[in-house]
Amino acid sequence: MSDALQKLWSPIVHQLTPYIPGEQPKTHDPIIKLNTNECPYPPSEKVLSAIRDRADEALRLYPDPTSEELRHTIATLHEVSVQNVFVGNGSDEVLAFTFQALLNHTDPLLMPDITYSFYPVYCKLYNINHKKIPVGTDFSIDLEEYNQPCGGIVFANPNAPTGLLLPLEKIRHIAERQRECCIVVDEAYIDFGGQSAVSLLKQFPNIIIIRTLSKSYALAGLRVGYALAHPTLIEALTRIKDSFNSYPLDRLAQAGATAALKDREWFDIHTKKIMASRQDLSAALSHLGFEVLPSFANFVFARHKHQKAATLSAELKKRGLLVRHFSSPRIENFLRISIGSEQDCNALIQALKTIIEQ
Ligand code: PMP
Repeated sequence: MSDALQKLWSPIVHQLTPYIPGEQPKTHDPIIKLNTNECPYPPSEKVLSAIRDRADEALRLYPDPTSEELRHTIATLHEVSVQNVFVGNGSDEVLAFTFQALLNHTDPLLMPDITYSFYPVYCKLYNINHKKIPVGTDFSIDLEEYNQPCGGIVFANPNAPTGLLLPLEKIRHIAERQRECCIVVDEAYIDFGGQSAVSLLKQFPNIIIIRTLSKSYALAGLRVGYALAHPTLIEALTRIKDSFNSYPLDRLAQAGATAALKDREWFDIHTKKIMASRQDLSAALSHLGFEVLPSFANFVFARHKHQKAATLSAELKKRGLLVRHFSSPRIENFLRISIGSEQDCNALIQALKTIIEQ
């Protein structure tokens, strides 16, 4: 029966290997969740009151389809014009529109072989010819290798899941050489010590920057992401969105995101706190015998000298601690650990100590 019904699938569905997201626990047992890079702290009180204050009309009325107030807030923050801003339901949706609108050409789309695993899924889904460029033995990205005929370039900066940062000068260098294709810089983790490529937008109108409020604003559940680019690139994303007749964001998301972006004090305090915890966690992991890559994100990527990551991850899970472990060959011995609260990180270190010493 199910075989007969599978024949109804379009050919593309047979070829798709779906993206496997980090586990979202279904139980209410106490769990320390360090597997999907959420913020361990509650969002700004101003976000909560904006959502409370707008709840009635937010539920009763249709949302503003162009998210005017939110886009203005984003434009002000980045010192660009509102025509440079596109918003979507999380940066995954903004990326989906970007792949469809700007990256589907005859020449291959270039990306690192170790990067955000959603990119190849989008390529499969939208039938985009792509080529993976191997990262170095130290997992670094050499942008010089991206100086070849292509239909676009996409990379995350800092990269996921390594957390490594590409200096702005390297991005400028490749942008000077690749002026004819779209260069997508996914800055999901840029707020944790990296230098944004926003300053390059004026000089290089083929760059598009993707941001999210899921990590540095503690709003993963609200689903808000955005793109910054030249108005002509933004128009391409808007055409895709409008073809689906999809509203970009509901009223609660628009109100909450606007309040979050305006509360610079909350942002500064919490991003600094996470960066300080990252330093402490990296030091504690090194002390336990881990090699820890230098991270510029709200997670660390680390492998133990003697222990298998799959075993460590399973043992941690038994003790109520979730971390991320990937099965792809070059990174199968690494754990990606989100930066939790001080208490979460201490609990993780204690648990790892017990597991390693047993
Ligand atoms: N880009 C990168 C590099 C990510 O790691 C993530 C989170 N998994 C996203 C984009 C998507 O984040 P969101 O959809 O929550 O904005």
